[in-house]
Amino acid sequence: MAFRILRPDSLSAWENEYILKRFSNYRGILDGKQIARYLIAKSLECKFDPNNDSLEVLENLLKEKSIEFNELLKKSIASLKNREIKASSYIDLATTIANRYLESCIFCERRCGVNRIQNETGYCLLTKDSYVSSAFLHFGEESVLVPSGTIFFQSCNFGCVFCQNYDLSQAWKGRRNIEDIAQKINEKKLAAIAERLVEKGAFNINYVGGDPIPNLHTIVGSLKYQTSNICQLWNSNFYLTNESLSLIIDFMDFWLPDFKYGNNECAEKYSGIKNYFDVISRNHKRIHDEGSGEIIIRHLVMPNHIECCSKPILDYVAKEIPKCAVNIMQQYRPQYKTNKYKEINRLPTSQEIADVKNYADKLGILYQPVS
Ligand code: SF4
Repeated sequence: MAFRILRPDSLSAWENEYILKRFSNYRGILDGKQIARYLIAKSLECKFDPNNDSLEVLENLLKEKSIEFNELLKKSIASLKNREIKASSYIDLATTIANRYLESCIFCERRCGVNRIQNETGYCLLTKDSYVSSAFLHFGEESVLVPSGTIFFQSCNFGCVFCQNYDLSQAWKGRRNIEDIAQKINEKKLAAIAERLVEKGAFNINYVGGDPIPNLHTIVGSLKYQTSNICQLWNSNFYLTNESLSLIIDFMDFWLPDFKYGNNECAEKYSGIKNYFDVISRNHKRIHDEGSGEIIIRHLVMPNHIECCSKPILDYVAKEIPKCAVNIMQQYRPQYKTNKYKEINRLPTSQEIADVKNYADKLGILYQPVS
């Protein structure tokens, strides 16, 4: 197939025994030997009253269903394949809770508390509506992920001064009508976009942006209408709240989270984010220990941030989340607002990149096949 010529490493990466072992479920889905988690979740019946049950009741039910779901995962694939899809399932419950959270938005740790259902907006400037700026087979993602069915959402909850996607995340804010530059979608339209990507040969459905976090309700809701046995992949800055991570942790097969900063201070300075390291490390630990555990962390090497950011992140990965692979990314470019920050207004040097890779080698971190 064409992608093999475009990216020969998409095949050779699977020759690495550690990649095969760490991403065995994802590989199983590709080979038709495993079932995507969201399809299993659709077979888990969930009885609740979406209009009258309190949020507390729904959240408690979610915890119970998560335990049941993880018990289900222990069953044989043959028995899981024969389970029928329920009219009201674990997916419906998560969607209902997500829409309740929209009434006082707590999707990310900015916790704006605005009523997005009533068209109020917080930092990300999104109401209840989601917007997709593009969706296509992406051949530039990590080797094992291509061709990736990538869906780009408009807007972001971060404000990184060096954003490489600032046209999606920031540039439209206050300047342009979002409907002029992106397609308004709902759950069913998003599912149709995902299914079209599957038909084109996608290996996974890759939710990115901007960031998918402000669109979590639409993404979870779309799973009700998707039907293909395809890996679901969350590609994000990962500044989710614990509550919102609970809504997706069982449904995602693969995680592609950023880990940008090794401390809270750098994050506040360059992305306007509080408690970054605490939140991001907490979320990584959860998906490693409680979720699928199939994770490629993206770490963008920034100039002059090797000691304060790159090395502490690698230390954390080696100690707390050792099953992850790390993409040590070299594509940092000074752009957007970096001219106001002299220390990051240049490319990283080859010595800085080598320092980070040598440090990863010293810690035994798996990075080469996916970097
Ligand atoms: S997604 Fe985050 S930034 Fe957007 S309104 Fe909700 S809490 Fe605020």
